[in-house]
Amino acid sequence: MTDSMRERAERVELQRKINSDVSKEGASAYSQDSAFTARSAEHGQRADSPLAATEPLARHAIRPSRTARASNPRPDGTVRVPESYPAHILHPQPHIVRDQLRSNAKKPLRVMKFGGTSVGDASCIQKVVDIVRAAVSHSDVVVVVSAMSGVTNKLVEAAKQSAAGNRRLVATIFEELRQRHEAAANTLIHSPEMRQSIVLKMTQVMQEGERLCQHAIQHQELTPRMCDSVSGIGERLSAPLVAAALAERGVASQAIEATELVVTDSCHGAAEPFMELTRERCEARLRPLVLQGVVAVVTGFIGATVEGVPTTLGRNSSDYSGTIMGAALDADEVTLWTDVDGILTADPRLVPEASSILEMSYREASDLAELGAKVLHPKTLHALMQRGIPLAIRNTFAPDLPGTKITPAGSSSGAEPKALTATNNAALITVRSSKVLGAADILRRTLATVATVPAEVRLIPQSSFPQSEVCVVVSSPAAEPAVEALRREFAQDMAHDSVRSITVNPSVAIVTVVGGEILGERGLAARTLDALRREKLLVLGSAPGSHSSFCFVVAPCDLNAAVVTAHRELQISAVDSRALPRTIT
Ligand code: ADP
Ligand code: ASP
Ligand code: MG
Repeated sequence: MTDSMRERAERVELQRKINSDVSKEGASAYSQDSAFTARSAEHGQRADSPLAATEPLARHAIRPSRTARASNPRPDGTVRVPESYPAHILHPQPHIVRDQLRSNAKKPLRVMKFGGTSVGDASCIQKVVDIVRAAVSHSDVVVVVSAMSGVTNKLVEAAKQSAAGNRRLVATIFEELRQRHEAAANTLIHSPEMRQSIVLKMTQVMQEGERLCQHAIQHQELTPRMCDSVSGIGERLSAPLVAAALAERGVASQAIEATELVVTDSCHGAAEPFMELTRERCEARLRPLVLQGVVAVVTGFIGATVEGVPTTLGRNSSDYSGTIMGAALDADEVTLWTDVDGILTADPRLVPEASSILEMSYREASDLAELGAKVLHPKTLHALMQRGIPLAIRNTFAPDLPGTKITPAGSSSGAEPKALTATNNAALITVRSSKVLGAADILRRTLATVATVPAEVRLIPQSSFPQSEVCVVVSSPAAEPAVEALRREFAQDMAHDSVRSITVNPSVAIVTVVGGEILGERGLAARTLDALRREKLLVLGSAPGSHSSFCFVVAPCDLNAAVVTAHRELQISAVDSRALPRTIT
């Protein structure tokens, strides 16, 4: 056992011990709260009243300690409702709360993130509720939600149209969003008080968005900060909706905005979390809920700076929010619930016969994520890797299928390729030397120059003339400044003809084979390139990627055919998980 593994084992053991002690204490405190709920119901007050659920949550609200709450009976025997925290919890029926609490001790903690399609409408949210209800019987659960599918795109459009002064279109977008969310609330929530309260909450959030857009219309300007505030509204609408739907079906829940939890830098549109601060906030805000069997429903995608300015972690980043929560709470597992049966051997939109991969290593999965597989945000694994927390990818619409499990070491079948992924939006820059053997020096200067732009070199493919030519692949937006910088760097060399040309192909695609024995005589790389050649597909360059992957560059128009050809040639056929025995969520 390595030192870090030992340290983790000791920490987890200690934490388990603390958890189990506190959990018992928390459970008894909460039983008394639920006793109050039962009594107040007898006195004509609705047990499931959301009370102040529509109020914005007070930042860093300091709650009375568990002991204070538990030992504060009133003369009539009822227990005082603690002022701040339970007032925001959506209570289900009392007998269900007791069931939830009875088996509350020593449960594993699962963070479950649900993507946009999983919360796309009322019927999808019902499936989410079924999954969470099943999980709370054997686990503590924290939920992270995306905005309803398509909502963030609409919000970004509203923000951009505001800056362009297109007032009517902005109003139409907000009206459509209002109708869509209200329709879901009307279907999901039957208690009139709770429904009214949730609709009011959603109206307030939408009004906030509209006010920001009005400001952009007036000033004909959209700052990155404003864009983050508007685009994060979708998650602030879906979280209360999902929390209310859970409460409606008997699961005590509370919607929480991640601006209270995820502390980030101020890089709007791609903010990075400060994990220590985030951990402290999650411990203070989420752990007490976990200990009391209340499911926190946290907004994905958003965070806030230390000063409280809202930020977003980047498009599609709710996966990252889920793993940030998992790492911050040292969860036992994080599950990303989506609309496919886990990670497939290729993007199913390109390769319909792609099948599910049962198990992958952290490295294989992060190669896939970083090289274009939409199913995982590129940073998803970052937060989990240090802590060794497993990640599962499952299908909300087929919850009894196993999906994919991502563990530090993955499965043992290391020789087989696991999956293919592809990304475009890349540019290929070629610097040609007129000297044979000039390439090494040119490569060194090219990389140093591109780094000053700064542009990230995504790949250094092997050229057909390796001794005199250097190729680098950068992202498309970085291509122009990179080429300008290279022309300055090599100006003298070009004047003396020692560098013949600097050219750029502004649009190329990178296809990556992940896993398997890439190199070797008849390794995957050689077989793939042969197959592509047979199909008359032009390969513009190829290279080993990071550790377990091999990449090749093609024209975007050849991307689909290249992926299909490589998938067929490598016979990347993982298990057909639909044929496997069913698992229980
Ligand atoms: P969510 O909204 O749940 O985060 P996304 O749309 O972001 O879901 O990601 C899931 C989608 O990713 C799938 O519907 C599928 O079309 C696409 N996808 C691309 N590559 C893969 C892959 N290798 N395995 C599974 N899905 C993939
Ligand atoms: N709603 C955000 C987006 O569409 C984040 C996410 O869904 O992952 O980018
Ligand atoms: Mg996603």
